[in-house]
Amino acid sequence: MTSLLVHNIGSLVTNDPALGDGPLGLLRDAAVVVDGGRVAWVGASADAPAADASHDAAGRAVIPGFVDSHAHLVFAGDRTAEFAARMGGQAYAAGGIRTTVAATRAASDEELAANLDRLVAEAARQGTTLIECKSGYGLTVDDEARALRLAHRVTDEVTYLGAHVVAPEYADDPAGYVDLVTGPMLDACAPHARWVDVFCERGAFDGDQARAILTAGMARGLTPRVHANQLGHGPGVQLAVELGAASADHCTHLTDADVDALANSDTVATLLPGAEFSTRAVYPDARRLLDAGATVALSTDCNPGSSFTTSVPFCIAVAVRDMRMTPDEAVWSATAGGARALRRTDVGVLTPGARADLVELDAPSHVHLAYRPGVPLVRTVWRAGEVVAGG
Ligand SMILES: [Zn+2]
Repeated sequence: MTSLLVHNIGSLVTNDPALGDGPLGLLRDAAVVVDGGRVAWVGASADAPAADASHDAAGRAVIPGFVDSHAHLVFAGDRTAEFAARMGGQAYAAGGIRTTVAATRAASDEELAANLDRLVAEAARQGTTLIECKSGYGLTVDDEARALRLAHRVTDEVTYLGAHVVAPEYADDPAGYVDLVTGPMLDACAPHARWVDVFCERGAFDGDQARAILTAGMARGLTPRVHANQLGHGPGVQLAVELGAASADHCTHLTDADVDALANSDTVATLLPGAEFSTRAVYPDARRLLDAGATVALSTDCNPGSSFTTSVPFCIAVAVRDMRMTPDEAVWSATAGGARALRRTDVGVLTPGARADLVELDAPSHVHLAYRPGVPLVRTVWRAGEVVAGG
């Protein structure tokens, strides 16, 4: 493998305050040397050491690759009509997931893998270099295990979400479904996953059921993360903090006690504005969380029902416009914040030793990600030092 010098970077986000200005560790007229898939050197362009190859950024901005810590990419089928109906005035309810479950069960491995690969490539073209991927559209022992095996083809950040919604076969026996999720399904899925997740919400799983599901997963070595407080107030956030979850995801409807709990914990508040956008719901209040001292991540929640976007830049623009985040905060949350939500220290930063996940923007500053909404600004994407988009 040859080393690469990316030089003449107008504005470099490192996310290391020791390397540059502010929380983003911003450097002007900077350069990065990549070697062996890792960042080998960061500093002033004028001081950069030689490398085997070079890339002239011509004054453009470079940021760490986006870490999308919440996505549902193993599915089949299409819910265009449901979206159109919702935009025509119908309310969103958790039960729509069952439509995708039927299509996913009927799909072949090849069909699911092709859709998954297409979405991962689509995300990469928009600057995402690490994406988490959940099961949750199989809801049988075999279909959930299959989803996790497929997810493992594209990421190490694989999440067992057998508790996405009660399987249709158990509509009259939710307790029986919880027994399945914490028993035979967990046995089949735990070897393929790093995380356990539950949709803790009215219409899905209540606090007691969610606790049983998460603690069963933890007993098998999985680390919890929770879909919490998306559609209304509920026990999800408090449960996530109590169990030491890496992340409480959505956090749209929070009490002051929920905000305090997040602020005084290591549990990241992962905000998913694509879901509120696509369900025409009220956005989470990022400013309230940030001012309280909580760590905030920003992710897509890519799924065919409530947030069918792979675009982190879109989420950044919405977060700045409608969730009272500054552009700096939104970019940090979509990179370093996502890494925190996945408990990763090797991504979301551009410091020596980090994985060489870089995004060159067709813009002089990362602020343009919010300033120029909807514009395809991602020019070149390197994952572990290899060009995966543009270039
Ligand atoms: Zn989700």
